[in-house]
Amino acid sequence: MPIKCMKCNRDAIIFQKYSGMHICKRHFIEDVERKVKLTIRKQYKIEKGDIIAVALSGGKDSVVLLYLLHKIFGVRRDIEIVALTIDEGIAGYREETLAKARKLTSELGIRHIVRSFKDEYDKTLDELTAQERKLGACSYCGVLRKSLMNKIANEIGANKLATGHNLDDEAQTIMMNHLGGDVDRMIRLSPPREIEGLVLRAKPLRKVPEKEVALYAIVNELPFDMSECPYAHEALRGEVRDMINEFEVRHPGTKYSIMRGFDKTVGLIAKEYPQAELSKCRICGETCTATLCQACKLLGRS
Ligand code: SF4
Ligand code: ZN
Repeated sequence: MPIKCMKCNRDAIIFQKYSGMHICKRHFIEDVERKVKLTIRKQYKIEKGDIIAVALSGGKDSVVLLYLLHKIFGVRRDIEIVALTIDEGIAGYREETLAKARKLTSELGIRHIVRSFKDEYDKTLDELTAQERKLGACSYCGVLRKSLMNKIANEIGANKLATGHNLDDEAQTIMMNHLGGDVDRMIRLSPPREIEGLVLRAKPLRKVPEKEVALYAIVNELPFDMSECPYAHEALRGEVRDMINEFEVRHPGTKYSIMRGFDKTVGLIAKEYPQAELSKCRICGETCTATLCQACKLLGRS
């Protein structure tokens, strides 16, 4: 006999080990949406007149993020949501995810801006990594994508830039920074503050476990791409993910504890730790902490 939902009498579709609850489809959807609304209310304060740029790759996280933001704020005429997709130029991978992203934005009637590395930097990611093998593809990809996202968000007058990072991503990043003793990076994860030239980052899914983001996409029949980037083999993250997942099985709630502990202490650390002075890159004008931004440095501009 199927296990019943602990909030009503319908069949359960998931067991949340960390809460000890079996829940049905309706209550699962409600639970995810409650977590996301709470995160937005407590951490990101979306207000009248906001233009929210949403980083949309076409994978499950960003698809769920866009769908949810549209569901929550779509009726508000005083808030605009714009989807941004970066085509890095990864042969055999980006085409599929881009198709899913286009499908979702047209279904929801959301303005969608697609820009490519090729147009912006004159080279695709494949070309950049083939020519310069010292750094892995992810180093180029991460820096250039962030920089381009911020540039487009500024161009369209967005005052928030939302990304689809989920609880697992957040717990892994926190642990990786601890393992590397990287306080600078830790502070960069602290609650966002207004900095001129840098559009405020928001991670509305940070309290939703990855498994639940995937299930939410499935039960809502959202179009998303499941393929993995051919460059995705960041070794340390993989090890940290496995370690946290093992802990989570034996000690349910570990991912939430990692995040909760971090959220409580990071503000205190940031107060005591000298913050880097910000300036404008002398080549491209993006806000950064040196005379040349990371993106321009990587591209060998001088
Ligand atoms: Fe870019 Fe690396 Fe992610 Fe692939 S895995 S999309 S190369 S950051
Ligand atoms: Zn620059």
